[in-house]
Amino acid sequence: MHIELDRAALEAHIREVPDFPKPGVSFKDVTPLLLDHVAFSTVVDALVMHFGRGTVDKVVGIEARGFIFAAPVAYHFGAGFVPARKAGKLPGPSRSVTYDLEYGSATLEMHDDAISPGDRVLIVDDVLATGGTAAATATLVEQLGGEVVGLGFLIELGFLGGAARIEGYERVSLLTYD
Ligand code: AMP
Repeated sequence: MHIELDRAALEAHIREVPDFPKPGVSFKDVTPLLLDHVAFSTVVDALVMHFGRGTVDKVVGIEARGFIFAAPVAYHFGAGFVPARKAGKLPGPSRSVTYDLEYGSATLEMHDDAISPGDRVLIVDDVLATGGTAAATATLVEQLGGEVVGLGFLIELGFLGGAARIEGYERVSLLTYD
């Protein structure tokens, strides 16, 4: 099912914060959007509608802002929620993937029992930037035997080329900045 999105209305609730958290980064702050129940629910509904009910068994949210969108998406799908967390945060037996950042590297982890073989999995985050985080999450899902049915983002920073890192997967970004 296709729904018309009022992108300008959504964009009006994204706050640009220059030079945060470090010089040269223009941070997309989604907290004003979360304050507005219409904008927040529009994002959740658009992600659910794009993939369609009955198509997803688990929704993975990427720490930390991905959790906020992934949990209500999972609720609407009648799917389980899975956190993908930064290193050392998960208490149970976990597996990890380390990926390169512009400077240095980062590690993401997922509980071994979070995904069952054959699970259809949707990955959700607030921002697709260089794509390293999303690609690492897809790798974790596949290592656990899950099938990545797609990735959903509120915002895609198109100029960073993250889409190339998750080529081959269904992807939806509600707002793209070129
Ligand atoms: P990347 O691995 O480069 O695609 O980075 C994606 C992760 O970093 C996501 O979890 C985002 O929340 C965060 N992120 C990267 N760039 C920005 C930005 N300009 N504004 C807000 N969050 C960002």
